[in-house]
Amino acid sequence: MKAGILYDEIFLKHDLPGHPENALRLKYFLRSMSEYPVKVVKPGPVSYDILRAVHDETYIEEVKISCRENAPGFFDPDTYYNAYTFDAAVMAAGACELGVELLLSGEFEAVFCAVRPPGHHAERNRAMGFCIFNNAAVAAVKALNSGVRKVFIADFDAHHGNGTQHIFESDDRVFYFSTHQYPFYPGTGGISENSDHVLNIPLPEGSGDAEIKKAYGRTFKEAFESFSPEILIVSAGYDLHADDPLTGLEVSDEGVRFVVSTLVRSAKEAGIPILFTLEGGYNLYALERCGRITFEEMVKN
Ligand SMILES: [Zn+2]
Repeated sequence: MKAGILYDEIFLKHDLPGHPENALRLKYFLRSMSEYPVKVVKPGPVSYDILRAVHDETYIEEVKISCRENAPGFFDPDTYYNAYTFDAAVMAAGACELGVELLLSGEFEAVFCAVRPPGHHAERNRAMGFCIFNNAAVAAVKALNSGVRKVFIADFDAHHGNGTQHIFESDDRVFYFSTHQYPFYPGTGGISENSDHVLNIPLPEGSGDAEIKKAYGRTFKEAFESFSPEILIVSAGYDLHADDPLTGLEVSDEGVRFVVSTLVRSAKEAGIPILFTLEGGYNLYALERCGRITFEEMVKN
């Protein structure tokens, strides 16, 4: 596939050394990037109307003022901010906005938004779980506003994407599919929350490759084919990996490859574009290998 990576150095400036969600994550994830035929594109800040369609105006203002006037600090016990956080977060959302534009114009068939802070825990009106603005939701809204009729979001992060699910719960143009460790942080993502356009696959600790392969090899494919979306957006959280220090899903390198390859091939076979946005993943060496696996699968298919 014609592949692009959206990246800006501002993503490294939102940082708290020693915190699991730190700038080294992105550096390690991108270490192998130059070995692959991918074009790197610098994004711009997200358009205010798109951000406003995902988040409450008062919340956006609160983030801006906190970063401008009260940094450093914490929005919740997990979610820090510094003086660069607002700028990094609007650029992360902007990468998703531009990523969709570049896919819809045909410039790329696959893009990876290599961004920080991550997004899938961010709710309409609050930061949560290391996330400030919901980048996957921004991509979905941008696609819908550009005339795309149906959007499929697949979230393979080990944590449930509560924010993304809640933002689109009452919008049946968006299908939300998530595999995650359960019961686990953030507590949501049980099957009782499923609907005709929300499909949670809660997985017990230690599920490993067998369960994740079943989820993507069969359940994802059925849901994806029957929804027949016009774009696939992926919340790519590499904390499903066995080496991750925060989680226990125990998925191997090969299992990660199976997931990424299934997503890329499904989009390719359906003739639709695919956008990945970086969520979690906290072991630096596993992140480096997962970056390599993802770039390989994007360019070879
Ligand atoms: Zn996670």
